[in-house]
Amino acid sequence: MFVDGNAAAGPLAEALGIDLTTAVVTCAGCGVSGVFAETRVYDQGPGVVARCRSCEAVLIRLVRTATDAWLDLRGARSVRIPLAP
Ligand SMILES: [Zn+2]
Repeated sequence: MFVDGNAAAGPLAEALGIDLTTAVVTCAGCGVSGVFAETRVYDQGPGVVARCRSCEAVLIRLVRTATDAWLDLRGARSVRIPLAP
């Protein structure tokens, strides 16, 4: 079972201090780009995993401990974050 990227917005915002839902993520595996909110998020494990909608490769992993957030972005070729003009 998965949910959309909005489900991961809270934990990622806590770790990064920004809202990633409108960020454009490019998959390192297949090269497809899409907004983070449309990724497939699996949040029932010990962490949160966002997967590519096209090829199912892992884009982003986030694990939170009591004192730290561990963020693995190696599955994303790039993350384009819109900034206020
Ligand atoms: Zn992909």
